[in-house]
Amino acid sequence: MSNKLIPVTQPFLPELSEFVPYLEKIWDNRWLTNNGPFHQELESKLAEYLGVEHVSLFNNATIALITALQAMRIHGEVITTPYSFVATSHSIMWNGLAPVFVDIDPATFNIDPAKIEAAITPLTSAIMPVHCYSNPCDVEAIQKIADNYGLKVIYDAAHAFGVSYKGESILKWGELSILSFHATKVFNTFEGGAIISQDAKTKQRIDRLKNFGIADELTVTAPGINGKMSEINAAFGLVQLKHIDEAMLQRQAVDARYRAELADVKGIALYQHDVHANSNFSYFPILVEADYPLSRDKLYDKLKANGILSRRYFYPLISNMPMYRRFPSANTAHLPQANALAEKVLCLPIFNELTIEEQNHIISLIKEGF
Ligand SMILES: *Cc1c(COP(=O)(O)O)cnc(C)c1O
Repeated sequence: MSNKLIPVTQPFLPELSEFVPYLEKIWDNRWLTNNGPFHQELESKLAEYLGVEHVSLFNNATIALITALQAMRIHGEVITTPYSFVATSHSIMWNGLAPVFVDIDPATFNIDPAKIEAAITPLTSAIMPVHCYSNPCDVEAIQKIADNYGLKVIYDAAHAFGVSYKGESILKWGELSILSFHATKVFNTFEGGAIISQDAKTKQRIDRLKNFGIADELTVTAPGINGKMSEINAAFGLVQLKHIDEAMLQRQAVDARYRAELADVKGIALYQHDVHANSNFSYFPILVEADYPLSRDKLYDKLKANGILSRRYFYPLISNMPMYRRFPSANTAHLPQANALAEKVLCLPIFNELTIEEQNHIISLIKEGF
């Protein structure tokens, strides 16, 4: 076994030589940003690949989430999940809105629709769920509640690149869905993100908002932000997109090997992919239960001592962070499932270049159990 550290994830990079002609084109035409030719091409190629109509590229998903709440004119309270990356709740706070945390369903790790209604108040205007680890939320149940109460649904789909549900893109659900193309995600543009909208008028509003609210040379219609993706990032996205299916197949093989080898390990629980969806194999979370010989943190330490970087993702829970604890819904007694999961989850390395030898080493350390 080599001494190199095994990271929890590693960006998938095509050959550099494939990227160079794109750079030469940028150097030739000197169009560096502001809806350049590669930006336009990536928006249309992604729409085609993802099976959606309207894609608005962003410089990252956090700015996209903040802009999405602006675009839908959300006010008051937003119902969301505490079991996510901090950017979900932070985007709510950046809009001067209050997050209202609802517990998760332990079978899917996603917001539990059965608990949403009790969290709705006269101030509620939106629901922001997360398709955690690319596992689709219960989109039907969430939409029904939203329709009944006149709420907007904005999905944090940062994990859900290329995921379809019952044969159609998961990104077609809700008013808007936000993708992340950060380096750690399945599909990356170094930094980047996108908002998927359902009609041309909404896309236009979003495209203005990400460009300072500028409508034309003389007209600014909203206090927008700078959320634009540059040509260099868009060009890289075009190169990546050519190889993304291959990269996901390699991840699928890693996922299958972990599942086969860890299924019967006492005290280690695996989550099941939704039978109605196709996963993008972005994460491999295991749950370290009480009957495993080591605690979750001891297993994390043991892997680290052996050169393997796993990640407690998501831990700590958003609702337990100092800036969120003051919200009544952040009370741990109100969120038993999310709190329990955050204590036992451990995401194992999964990326397209993880070798079988490296993976076997990880598996044998977990099986060893001491
Ligand atoms: C990565 C991630 C984000 C933030 O994406 P950036 O592109 O890094 O801003 C938001 N939400 C979730 C669930 C994420 O995993």
